[in-house]
Amino acid sequence: METLIEKLKRQSVLTRDEYVSLIRNRTPELAELLYESAREIKRRYYGNDVFIRGLIEFTSFCKNDCYYCGLRCSNRNAERYRLTKEDILLCCRNGYELGFRTFVLQGGEDPYFNADRLVDIIRSIKKEYPDCALTLSVGEKSYEEYKAYFDAGADRYLLRHETADNEHYRMLHPKELSPENRKRCLYDLKRIGYQVGCGFMVGSPWQTEENLADDLLFIKELQPQMVGIGPFIPQHDTPFRDKKAGTLELTLFMLGLLRLTLPTALIPATTALGTIHPLGREKGIQAGANVVMPNLSPVSVRKKYLLYDNKICTGDEAAECKNCLAMRMKSIGCNVVVSRGDCYNFTNDKKEEELT
Ligand code: SAH
Ligand code: SF4
Repeated sequence: METLIEKLKRQSVLTRDEYVSLIRNRTPELAELLYESAREIKRRYYGNDVFIRGLIEFTSFCKNDCYYCGLRCSNRNAERYRLTKEDILLCCRNGYELGFRTFVLQGGEDPYFNADRLVDIIRSIKKEYPDCALTLSVGEKSYEEYKAYFDAGADRYLLRHETADNEHYRMLHPKELSPENRKRCLYDLKRIGYQVGCGFMVGSPWQTEENLADDLLFIKELQPQMVGIGPFIPQHDTPFRDKKAGTLELTLFMLGLLRLTLPTALIPATTALGTIHPLGREKGIQAGANVVMPNLSPVSVRKKYLLYDNKICTGDEAAECKNCLAMRMKSIGCNVVVSRGDCYNFTNDKKEEELT
């Protein structure tokens, strides 16, 4: 098993069988070895820097019905809200003053925010904060809509693929949502020129080790700039309320494998990871992650954006979240950096383009 980790470190990819074998035969000792390698590779590109992104959860309305998510449209108990454009700009102002240079607009798939409204919001943010990167995470759209957002100034897009296995995907979603369309979206986003983020939940119902290996291989093929993974956590008003949550241990192991598979990727230690263990995010960074995403949403709406149960930081002001995370990162020898924090590969590709 040790030799497989060395091979992965050297070649940045393994066969499906090799990934499965590592995942299936993992031990605490093997995990330690993996994390050491992951930290070494991460340091090569990013030193001890941890990038910080300001998350603005701007709508809890969603027309989709994903079986795992608390915002699904069938959840009559979910409290719904929408921020106005002015609210969103206030979140950005607050964030900018706190040092944030990336804003992430995330929400359910809310038809109210049609292309015209979103384009207007994107333009306004980019006009006021031209030195900031703007990331969108608003689900599946047409090529034309993605292009319109990009032309309006959006730089990055997060759309987790959720699971690379088509059959598994259909077990987690109603039939209106297809794995083919999800993947189509990701390739469209890349073609348009976004820095793209995909990702998956660890320990989602019926997930197998083979599924996880396929996730890594899919990610290797897509070559995204960002990958978000976190444990699945049941939400009490969803069909998956009685399913088991993903574990800290497996999530960390997958973070390590991910770092070695995609050495320069931006990988967040997610809020979900911080939710299943008090030191989840610190451990995530130590296993290979290099991004944290504190919340910039107004405290008044925080408790209404409940994808899963027991979500942390729903009572804290943005400034508290930022300070808390900066301290947590310092405690493990990392510095939170104030910059757009573009992906190492992406900025270097751009520079090469500029040279030619
Ligand atoms: N509507 C957008 C963005 C918001 S959901 C979208 O679906 O892409 C953002 C992510 O939250 C999803 O991609 C999913 O991976 C994660 N998520 C949803 N429900 C979850 C749960 N119960 N446990 C853990 N993560 C969950
Ligand atoms: Fe909507 Fe995203 Fe939740 Fe699915 S995961 S129900 S698309 S908010």
